[in-house]
Amino acid sequence: MNVLVVNCGSSSLKFQLINYDNRDVLAKGLCERIGIDGRLVYEPKNGEKEVTEAAMPTHVEAIQMVLDALVNEKSGVIKSLEEVDAIGHRVLHGGMKITNSVIIDDEVIKVIEECADLGPLHNPANLMGINACMKLMPGVPNVAVFDTAFHQTMPPKAYMYGIPKEYYEKYAIRKYGFHGTSHQYVAERCAELLEKPLADTKIITIHIGNGGSLSAVKGGHSVDTTMGFTPLAGIMMGTRSGDIDPAVLPFVMEKENLTIDQAVNALNKESGLYGVSGASSDMRDILKLVAEGDERGTIAFNLYIKRICDYIGSYFLYLDGVDAIVFTAGIGENSIPVRKAVVQRLGALGIQLDEQANNVMGEEALISTADSKIKVFAIPTNEELMIAKDTYAFVK
Ligand code: ADP
Repeated sequence: MNVLVVNCGSSSLKFQLINYDNRDVLAKGLCERIGIDGRLVYEPKNGEKEVTEAAMPTHVEAIQMVLDALVNEKSGVIKSLEEVDAIGHRVLHGGMKITNSVIIDDEVIKVIEECADLGPLHNPANLMGINACMKLMPGVPNVAVFDTAFHQTMPPKAYMYGIPKEYYEKYAIRKYGFHGTSHQYVAERCAELLEKPLADTKIITIHIGNGGSLSAVKGGHSVDTTMGFTPLAGIMMGTRSGDIDPAVLPFVMEKENLTIDQAVNALNKESGLYGVSGASSDMRDILKLVAEGDERGTIAFNLYIKRICDYIGSYFLYLDGVDAIVFTAGIGENSIPVRKAVVQRLGALGIQLDEQANNVMGEEALISTADSKIKVFAIPTNEELMIAKDTYAFVK
């Protein structure tokens, strides 16, 4: 069965066509600058990467370009669109109503619209992709896979905030968590590597890319995560502050004469590694600064590592011990020094780093020693495969 996996942003659209029967990626790519001008990057399996500039006023034209490329006589990977059996969409926010992946119908579209309040940048873009696919491929089932759904198993003690309960009742203010598809994928893969039934595992998953979050996963279910009502909460990230004293916000707004939007923008886009170092949000640049002995770069790095370790310690107690810790996403998969700095601070938990084994980038590896009390893995995430898996399960 061929599943087209679609991940829409406001001006971009990433896609993969996956033959789920043998987990084969037939083609992948992205459309960029939708609504501005338009550019398709298309990469067929066993073929050359192609870049095509073409007008893409909306997501409909973008999807049309993708479909044309997939069936193109020269570089296409299928003969006709009838070979696309289902479409899986990544959707950011499903609020409290959606706890699992779902076949998209009018009711689901209504929920995605309602949750646009909670995911104002992503949900409307995700809907544009869904509508475009429904228009261009009528009759093909669409499945929505939500970033928040995996974390809906958190108990109230993990998802409630210590604020007046009216805010929860009136506005659904609570922790939702994000990166759910990734946390779920690496937790399931980790259970396989541990050769243990998923139901018997306790795992801390660390997804660190540009954004970042940790999740405490018990028996394959999320019982806590570091992002919150929005992706701004938790660990420090590339440009996001992570947790801060909320009283900082009104204080800075008054001193700097900022509007709410400006202040929130500063926490989302001008903080984190970027804000603290004053130089870059990219971990590779921060590591260079550390090597050069740059003071602010070093503080940014140490703060980044400390925040992750704080949550590992917290989740270790919350889960009453763990079987494994998993690193994933851009930094987790590729940054040898970041994994080393984190794991070397976990000695009190009986964790030992195997420096040689840690010397890998973008590969699955056990990076703790044989006598480490807790196993530590690097596992490349695969959100597309997870979306294809859920879509396949429904449509089958
Ligand atoms: P996103 O959250 O945007 O999906 P990714 O998971 O792709 O991001 O992660 C992107 C980040 O990964 C980059 O900003 C960079 O900081 C980091 N990164 C990628 N490769 C390396 C590397 N070799 N060393 C350190 N950091 C890396």
